[in-house]
Amino acid sequence: MIKKITDIFKEKNKTFSFEFFPPKTPRGMEHLYHTVEELNSLGPDFVSVTYGAGGSTRGATMDICMEIQKRFDLTVMHHLTCVGHSQAELRDILGRAKTNNIRNILALRGDQPKGIENWQPAPDELKYCYQLIDLVSEIDKDFFSIGVAGFPEGHINCPDKATDTKYLKIKIDHGGEFIITQLFFDNAIYSEYLDRLKNAGVKVRVLPGILPITSYEGLLKFCNTCGATVPQMIHDIFKPLSGNEQATVEAGIEFAVSQCQNLLDRGAPGLHFFTLNKIEPIKEIWKRLRIR
Ligand SMILES: Cc1cc2nc3c(=O)[nH]c(=O)nc-3n(C[C@H](O)[C@H](O)[C@H](O)COP(=O)(O)OP(=O)(O)OC[C@H]3O[C@@H](n4cnc5c(N)ncnc54)[C@H](O)[C@@H]3O)c2cc1C
Repeated sequence: MIKKITDIFKEKNKTFSFEFFPPKTPRGMEHLYHTVEELNSLGPDFVSVTYGAGGSTRGATMDICMEIQKRFDLTVMHHLTCVGHSQAELRDILGRAKTNNIRNILALRGDQPKGIENWQPAPDELKYCYQLIDLVSEIDKDFFSIGVAGFPEGHINCPDKATDTKYLKIKIDHGGEFIITQLFFDNAIYSEYLDRLKNAGVKVRVLPGILPITSYEGLLKFCNTCGATVPQMIHDIFKPLSGNEQATVEAGIEFAVSQCQNLLDRGAPGLHFFTLNKIEPIKEIWKRLRIR
């Protein structure tokens, strides 16, 4: 029986989960299933599959979720963005998710299309994540468990942290049942975020999103897009290793282990790893952390 993530929360006070992305080639797809098989041996509580807002891999997310559930009997969460979809399309996707027994949805807005100033959605599109939460609840509130994204430093398009907290609270009030955060490297940012949410009356679990660094240049590019801060300590460690892949991966593992240990010491209710579909960094972090 495929579980809802909220049911897993009732059994466990900490969860450990992995995030994968849909590859673009058949070879990448086979590698993905090999990765899932390898990482499944670590006993994750659930895994999630991202959704390429507006991209060519959108349709692959559901197929991958179904295949993972079938092959590995794992609890899976389907990321779903509302950008670029009509409401009828979203209803169709959610209807198929229900038919295929996919019970966990990470409800997202998705990034607005690049290069369009003052972008407005088409008349039959949704503008914000909380509207997608309403739609999921309307399809079947009891069947689905709904997670949402959280941004400890504030979302890149949001004017300030107080406003960001206000909008996050709206997502929870509309039915968001847990939060997975954007990556961060300074754990004080996570603790301050928890304080802000607590003061706003948000009581759901906030799972920290962890990125094991495997490329300095890749990290800078990604953080530039999503607005996450790269602290000086990260530049100090990883800039001198730039171009040396093996040394970067090893330093990334070491950094992630101490970040994760510190988060667990601070009482984080688990860890959600952005795996980038890689096996070794995650296995090594797991081993050094002795999670199980
Ligand atoms: C863990 C995680 C997983 C992700 N997975 C994916 C993925 O699979 N695919 C993908 O394309 N993207 C993914 N993203 C990125 C995400 O889609 C983008 O960051 C997107 O820009 C914001 O999505 P959201 O659901 O937080 O949107 P929203 O909560 O709707 O926020 C979007 C913007 O609108 C503002 N806003 C929100 N509510 C209101 C309101 N009521 N009134 C006015 N303004 C408001 C917010 O401040 C923000 O600036 C992920 C992010 C995280 C943290």
